[in-house]
Amino acid sequence: MNFIITPKCNKNCSFCFARKWRESCKQDMSWDTFKTLVEKTEIVKLLGGEPTLHPNFIDFVQYAIKKKKIITIVTNLLINNDKIIDFLVRTVQKYPIGFLLNGSELYGKRLELFSKNYNAIYKTAYRVDNEMNMRLGVTIPKGAENDIPKYIDYLKSLTDKLINIDTLRLSLTFPGEDKLKGDYYFLNNKKLGNLFLAVTQFAVQNGIKPTIDCIIFPCMFSNKEEFKYMIKFNTKVLTMCGNSSMPLDVFPNGKAVYGFPLRKVAEIDTSEYDNVKQMIKALVSKYQIVNSIAETPEACKKCNFYHKICEGPCLGFKPRPLEFKI
Ligand code: SF4
Ligand code: SF4
Repeated sequence: MNFIITPKCNKNCSFCFARKWRESCKQDMSWDTFKTLVEKTEIVKLLGGEPTLHPNFIDFVQYAIKKKKIITIVTNLLINNDKIIDFLVRTVQKYPIGFLLNGSELYGKRLELFSKNYNAIYKTAYRVDNEMNMRLGVTIPKGAENDIPKYIDYLKSLTDKLINIDTLRLSLTFPGEDKLKGDYYFLNNKKLGNLFLAVTQFAVQNGIKPTIDCIIFPCMFSNKEEFKYMIKFNTKVLTMCGNSSMPLDVFPNGKAVYGFPLRKVAEIDTSEYDNVKQMIKALVSKYQIVNSIAETPEACKKCNFYHKICEGPCLGFKPRPLEFKI
């Protein structure tokens, strides 16, 4: 379960699909909500915004450890707070916390702070267990197609500054706001495919394990060989919402969606369910209804991959069908 514990963030990424929500939400997750939710899940993934900005961040981690949960912290590591860094360094010496780092920082001096914190934690955090390592996320936004050299330089600067990078997790920007939905910029976008390829090959050549999240589309690649190469690093190809290991995102008020970009499609109140399994089941059945009436781009209907290995853009990209919310 993803615990979105605060809307606060100190980074302002251009690709932040949570921006609109962060600007409108004024609430941090309360102790009571956090404790109640922890009882309903084995996996506690803390995120925001930037979760370390929650005033009870340390208490939340300690509580989840006490309850023997599997913990991951999704952070941008721009933590200018010695107390938090000391806490994390001391804690990971005794307890295997996983990290997913928002690392797409292509500019400015913030890489210094990022790498200082990364290296301090990495020295003590690294364990052989694959699930418990530090994964570095790179989100590729719309319009980055011509920036291959910039991305490679960025990755080189990371490999220079960081002790080691275990895993590089690549994603494509999801549209966060309604007005951006329906923009299928990735369809047949070979230049974008080339960027994915270049970054993935750089990772492999430098001993970094690449992983690609669920949104990788066969039409982004020039030939079968390229696509075959890329899907080795992807857990699945069928791009249908609700049939894979999407995260259950729970907001500070206890409401949940199955995948943040689908928050306008359907949500549930977690207090009405006993466990994560029940919550996901309820949301998936709602998504199936919406999916059945959502429009599919014409290019997909004519595509040879359609319904075979690709279901076209997922609901995260589609405008809300008929202003439909269930
Ligand atoms: S670090 Fe995460 S929450 Fe903060 S602006 Fe970037 S994507 Fe958004
Ligand atoms: S079905 Fe659509 S998204 Fe999938 S490969 Fe074909 S054109 Fe691309």
